[in-house]
Amino acid sequence: MSSRMRSAPAVTSARWGVVPYVTAWSSEEAPPYNVVVRGGRIGYADETQYDRDSVGVLWARMGISPRVGRPQFKNVHYLRQRLAMRKLLCQVCGTRCGDDGVWVLSAQEYENGEGPWPAPVLTAQPPLCPGCVERSARLCPHLRGGHVVLRASRFRPAAVSGMLYEPTPVGLRAVGRETVALDSPWVRWLRATQLHMRLEEYTVLEPGSSA
Ligand SMILES: [Zn+2]
Repeated sequence: MSSRMRSAPAVTSARWGVVPYVTAWSSEEAPPYNVVVRGGRIGYADETQYDRDSVGVLWARMGISPRVGRPQFKNVHYLRQRLAMRKLLCQVCGTRCGDDGVWVLSAQEYENGEGPWPAPVLTAQPPLCPGCVERSARLCPHLRGGHVVLRASRFRPAAVSGMLYEPTPVGLRAVGRETVALDSPWVRWLRATQLHMRLEEYTVLEPGSSA
């Protein structure tokens, strides 16, 4: 799978314009699933080793067929978002960012951080290579109201968001979409769709204006 994922960078076409690496395509549908309780946590009735990540979080299933069908610009592909976070791949072109990667937050995300600057901020937006920052600010609807470019020196995967379930006497109940810390006991009851990075030390490169 990894070689296939690496071969799916941003697509630029006359038809779609730039399609970011993390964007979901219409062919990448969610297969049917059945959530059950097993061993004090949720799982799939027909679970396989690919349904959990390296820290044991259960992930929502999604087909993998980038470039097939239509790009769903409002939807992020769960696995590519997670890979981009874990491996620090640029969310637009899919290349490895290395130490050059930056983090672009909407002004609202930044203001919703844990306190005034330079308090840690939690983001579900994977990094960007320097060459894709301007393009991203132009393409992403959530950045149009202003954005902030950060270079982080210390950061870690800290939370996942997705559908939270709770056990009840009559079975599992879907509570709703929640963001849960990876060290919370509730992470055992979440079917994740996005991984969040906590930027703990960073410098602000560019307080943003509307692109
Ligand atoms: Zn890039």
